[in-house]
Amino acid sequence: MRKLVQQLLLTFLIVFPASVLAAENTQKPFVIASFSIIADMAKQVAGGAIEIHTLVPASADVHTYEPTPADAKKIANARLILTNGLGFEQWLPKLVKSSGGMAWVVPVTKGVKPVISNGKSIDPHAWQDVSNAIIYATNIRDALLIADPLNEATYRKNAQHYIEQLTELNDWVKNTIAQVPEAKRRAITSHDALGYFARAYGITLIPAQLSTEGEVSAKTMASLIDQLRNQSVRAVFLENLTNPRLMEQLARDGNATIGGTLYSDSLSETSGKAPTYISMIKHNVNTIIAALAK
Ligand code: ZN
Repeated sequence: MRKLVQQLLLTFLIVFPASVLAAENTQKPFVIASFSIIADMAKQVAGGAIEIHTLVPASADVHTYEPTPADAKKIANARLILTNGLGFEQWLPKLVKSSGGMAWVVPVTKGVKPVISNGKSIDPHAWQDVSNAIIYATNIRDALLIADPLNEATYRKNAQHYIEQLTELNDWVKNTIAQVPEAKRRAITSHDALGYFARAYGITLIPAQLSTEGEVSAKTMASLIDQLRNQSVRAVFLENLTNPRLMEQLARDGNATIGGTLYSDSLSETSGKAPTYISMIKHNVNTIIAALAK
């Protein structure tokens, strides 16, 4: 009997990482999401079974985020940290290390086929292709199943329902974009965040800036203005997190109008136009369609 107990204990320790067991006596598992889009997906999968905290607030830029001492404290108490990975949260490994906590860090892009942007670096914005969001939801479900096996039935049921909604959404995006003639499907966006979206749904989106920090050269600016004036590009879109001034100047000099604001790297506040991942994709597609179909 004692041997059996020992064996069971050993199996348990192998299956469940030490970090998962560390916070076992808290009521609801405390889970951290690096940014708002992953936090929403985790809420959809977990329902009310976890307590979730988002590190980068909806109004801040994940690329250039500077963690606070309060973030380190939160991380120290977390059981699980859900991150995008693909180099998106460059500031996170150092933060996790300095927090002294034992949280289990799970990149939810595991299994996503990465897009190489600008011929060299991996593009982290994989969530903009809804078929990747299904991979995110599956990875979130699998992480929760290990971190909190007591709520298995809840996670499985919610994940299945959410994945059904995402599958429907993906079909809707494909069908809606396909209604715009191919020659009209060209626009300029603020930074290089919609590469996965463009590739998945057959649309050309030219980023004015390659990153949220980058400067735009005079040569690039002239070429973008040219494309707008000769109508080979139909519209200019703002992004919720980047400074609109550059895009407004582009639209002015290229005799084009601003097609609206797209949500790329963050959701809106609860009362805004894109408080969830699904509403964000719908808002972006409707905004793009309205501008390009003119
Ligand atoms: Zn970005």
